[in-house]
Amino acid sequence: METLINKDKYGQDYVSRDYLLQFVDITKIFKSGHVRNYALDKVNLSIKAGDSLAIVGESGSGKSTLGLVAVNLLKPNSGKIMFEGNDISKLRGSALRSFRRYTQMVFQDPYSSLNPYNTVYQSVSAPMKANMAYYESLIGEKVDSRDKQRAKVAEMLDMVGLVPGENFLDLFPKKLSGGQRQRVALARSLMLRPKLIVADEPTSMLDVSISAQVLNLLARLKRELKFSIMYISHELGTSNYISENMAVMNLGRVVEYGPSEEITSRPMHPYTDILIKSMLEVGGFKTEEPLAKIDFSQYNGGMVGCTFAHSCPFVTDVCLKQRPLLEKVDGDHSVACFHPLSH
Ligand code: ADP
Ligand code: MG
Repeated sequence: METLINKDKYGQDYVSRDYLLQFVDITKIFKSGHVRNYALDKVNLSIKAGDSLAIVGESGSGKSTLGLVAVNLLKPNSGKIMFEGNDISKLRGSALRSFRRYTQMVFQDPYSSLNPYNTVYQSVSAPMKANMAYYESLIGEKVDSRDKQRAKVAEMLDMVGLVPGENFLDLFPKKLSGGQRQRVALARSLMLRPKLIVADEPTSMLDVSISAQVLNLLARLKRELKFSIMYISHELGTSNYISENMAVMNLGRVVEYGPSEEITSRPMHPYTDILIKSMLEVGGFKTEEPLAKIDFSQYNGGMVGCTFAHSCPFVTDVCLKQRPLLEKVDGDHSVACFHPLSH
């Protein structure tokens, strides 16, 4: 594979073969009438093999869009997604099938992610059955009878904490709680031992105690099965727990990136700082009233300056006229701000 050494406009060095996933200059625009909504505005991010990345930000900041683009369920208007050094828009045939096995998505709503007419066994066995030769080579044994297939699915259910797994095989989703459904969805997504799980607010619809159990499970499975997680959330606390790195998004742009611990303890972008403080006050982001107020109809060509300029206490002229680039400030800690906070 060719070695692509590059330094993009936003300050991230990359050697693509070292990375599992890279977003290179990703822009996604949703048009509604004459209004162009920049859901993603030149996003540059990368995840090293084995590492995890949390995407945090208020509702509407582009997190879900980024997740969908990552697994090729949504095409960006420009930019490219590199998976193990290959541009995913160019994958065809067996390379595309491999990519689909390696990347899996877990959605927010456990009540709509399972087909109500399929039993747990039918849902969880589907990826295995559709890729049997691949599955057999993965686990190094033949799975050529229904009994063996049921045993493999039961094993996976055990792994996600549905114990004993065989008791769950013939149940329909309506018999399961939200937490149990999310475990089934997770079991299905792990059947082919993916390299990357994109989890879009996987516990936000669960009760607090159940949510903590599912997060613990996710963290344990990640260690045991050694997959990477792109963990999308509007909560900094759980993101910090699941993922070593964090990207903070504001209105389609990454405004801060770095080790989760650093970002939550020493935020450099005024937006991140306010986000953390508002979270401490209300126990979650105030989704009903955004911290950064923008009328997109005024920015049809995309915003010129910083997306947070109109709400920022430290705004100066340059913030309104020029886009701040995501630049490394301290070790791996990057911030897109002309006036980063110092600690
Ligand atoms: P988040 O997950 O952070 O809440 P989203 O990625 O869902 O944010 O949305 C980012 C922006 O894109 C929002 O302004 C949202 O309204 C818009 N958007 C998302 N999906 C669509 C869509 N399918 N059609 C039109 N606009 C969309
Ligand atoms: Mg979302």
